[in-house]
Amino acid sequence: MDAELLRIARECKGYLDEAEGMRLYELAREYGRVGPIVEIGSYCGKSSVYLGAGARDAGSTLICIDHHRGSEEHQPGEEYHDPELFDAQAGRMDTLHALRRTLRLANLEAHAVIWVSSSTTASRIWSTPLGMVFIDGGHSFETARSDYAGWHDKVASGGVLAIHDLFPNPAEGGQAPIEIYRQGLGSGSFDALETTKTLGVLRRR
Ligand code: MG
Repeated sequence: MDAELLRIARECKGYLDEAEGMRLYELAREYGRVGPIVEIGSYCGKSSVYLGAGARDAGSTLICIDHHRGSEEHQPGEEYHDPELFDAQAGRMDTLHALRRTLRLANLEAHAVIWVSSSTTASRIWSTPLGMVFIDGGHSFETARSDYAGWHDKVASGGVLAIHDLFPNPAEGGQAPIEIYRQGLGSGSFDALETTKTLGVLRRR
């Protein structure tokens, strides 16, 4: 990761620790050689900068999947609502322009594909085995379970499934991401790799 990309990632809206971002970069650079990389929940593109840079260095492609209408926690009145990302005319959130801007600033447009739809719709269409899937979409149990169900078996053998926002202590955060992480571990299809802060990583057998 060069300094300019780090600066762009730092300035981008979103919630991702820099150590976690660097881990995403390293994973994308390594497992991008296995196949394309899918990100669920791109928001404004903070994690896309790290993943896209890794995909670029691996000669791979990042697919940024998001409906861009915001997760539950981004809606007006909710904890993570950002009025700058609200389209008043549509009466809905719209983060698509922010993602496109981030990828342009990071000079990653040739290495990243923006896919605007729900994760469920995309997973029904997608069939290419993936080198890496990063799940960081909605944090409700329903959404996280659906993301896991739709994407875990699209990871190629020897590829990785990364899941953000694991909080072993329920007092520190929602339990949906860690539930699907444990589901993956319990499935017998994955081995745990090292966790970086709240970023869990499972490698498919
Ligand atoms: Mg997250």
